[in-house]
Amino acid sequence: MKNFLSCVFIVFTLACNAQTKENSNATASDKDKVVKTPKEWQQCLSPEQYKILREKGTERAFTGKYYDHHEKGTYTCAACKSKLFSSNTKFDSGTGWPSYYQPFNKNAVKTKADNSYGMQRLEVVCAKCDGHLGHVFEDGPAPTGLRYCINSASLDFIKAEDEKKNEGKKEN
Ligand SMILES: [Zn+2]
Repeated sequence: MKNFLSCVFIVFTLACNAQTKENSNATASDKDKVVKTPKEWQQCLSPEQYKILREKGTERAFTGKYYDHHEKGTYTCAACKSKLFSSNTKFDSGTGWPSYYQPFNKNAVKTKADNSYGMQRLEVVCAKCDGHLGHVFEDGPAPTGLRYCINSASLDFIKAEDEKKNEGKKEN
């Protein structure tokens, strides 16, 4: 039974990657965009990830896997694997959510006005797949003064040592 389940998972993962490629080729104006239907996203994401990334949910503070995570590496989008934040810009905000003072590069994330719940906030989304990541506030540390307050469920993590191994593989 266990083998069967992991098989099903692999098939979903493969289907997910195949769809990512097809869709990114299909959109000529913005070829790097990842566009999927809600059903396709549900196949690729856990229910919690889906709720947060696609329905703008928020995980409870101090419950995510990365708020107290201090390894060196890169945080990627859990939905499309785009690089979003470096561990070098992560800081302990005390809020219970992973916090960064700047994105991986200027094209990694986008911001949108969010006036829900009677608050004026800036929503942070993945530039590549439009997945909801969290919000950005202007009470962060130097050098930017910004605090990107991000849900752990929207993130994956690649250890710095694994990134180096992968780069080595590409060269060979
Ligand atoms: Zn993404």
